[in-house]
Amino acid sequence: MRQNYLLESTHELIYIHDHQAVASIFQSHLPSAQYEAGKLQDQLIQYLTELVKINSVNPDLTPYGQGEREIGEYVHGHFQGLGIPSEVHTITEDRCNTTAFIRGNNPDKILLMNGHLDTVGIEGMDDPFTIMRDGDKLYGRGTYDMLAGCAIQMGLANYFSKNKSPISLAFTFVADEENLSLGMEHLLKHFLPTLSALPFLGIFMEPTEEAIGISHKGYTWFEINIEGLAAHGSRPEEGINAIFPLSSALKELEKISDELAQEDPHAYLGKATLHPGMISGGTAQSVIAAQSTLNWERRTLPGESQEKLDGELNRVIEAVKNASGNHHVRGRQVYHRPPNEVKDDLLIQKLQKAAGGKRYNGMSYWADSALATRAGIPSILFGPAGHGAHAINEWVSEKSLNNCYEAMKNFILSFD
Ligand SMILES: [Zn+2]
Repeated sequence: MRQNYLLESTHELIYIHDHQAVASIFQSHLPSAQYEAGKLQDQLIQYLTELVKINSVNPDLTPYGQGEREIGEYVHGHFQGLGIPSEVHTITEDRCNTTAFIRGNNPDKILLMNGHLDTVGIEGMDDPFTIMRDGDKLYGRGTYDMLAGCAIQMGLANYFSKNKSPISLAFTFVADEENLSLGMEHLLKHFLPTLSALPFLGIFMEPTEEAIGISHKGYTWFEINIEGLAAHGSRPEEGINAIFPLSSALKELEKISDELAQEDPHAYLGKATLHPGMISGGTAQSVIAAQSTLNWERRTLPGESQEKLDGELNRVIEAVKNASGNHHVRGRQVYHRPPNEVKDDLLIQKLQKAAGGKRYNGMSYWADSALATRAGIPSILFGPAGHGAHAINEWVSEKSLNNCYEAMKNFILSFD
């Protein structure tokens, strides 16, 4: 049963269902001076509530996914309502990016802000599109990863529509970060060239627990296919077993993994890692398997070369070739996303100061920021605290949401 608006106790679960009413509830429960102070906070929650309410599940990840069209149009409407030039960029019928631009006193000094509009699936969640409050925690799909970051951009747009910004602000909301980054690739190709100058910094408001995320890992996917010959299970000598040689591949991967663990750790990202993620082969228990496949993922650190990765793949192929039997083996790199690292400089220190001296950190996960950095915009991650990204108990901290908004606002104003 849904409870609405139980704001008397912050420890009770509160469903913020009718978002239009949120502001008035805060008003009715708080003394007016306090409400004035908390006004912005209410606004951010209102934006977040609206964003969460719209199904923006990535349709390539689950059949429930509706894509970014509706949420992209909603964000576009927000900017239009503030009189800020905005555009919806169609990728496919149900997929789009939304951008907006505020011209600052120094028009060619452009800060790029970014959030992804898509979320992961909602399987196992009772009411994923309704924000539920438990104290400081705001539950709901996408609250943490990363509609809160999108709400911060909307709040900043509101503020800087009324207060002149010292620098230009490019607000960007993209599709498909959770899968293949169709949105980010489209943005870099179609939106970036329309700007008068390359942005001097990109801030991607992924959840970082308020740390300044100056680096994150990349990843590369590999696959080997082993071919043998099928035969009756009672006559293995008539076939070629394609599964036995997998043990050589796995042993070699373990060896490489051990070697990676011996390497010097990255200051913020620790060690590079790998793991076998999928294994398949054979057709029946009583049949000598004629085919098998092994897929592994390698999480990469800034500075690791393609030659090093190629070398690892070749080692696994060689190990399988050298295993006994007349099987054939083929291997390939299936997919690759680069790691990201931005140098600590005065600019990053300025953000750190605006954020109240938050620490630097590296993120274990991959994000679109790597693609922006590769396109010439040094890009970092900075976003709120919370828990449960991609899990059913996803929440973002309301206090942290506000902290990040304030930090971003202060950072922009510090260019005055
Ligand atoms: Zn994310």
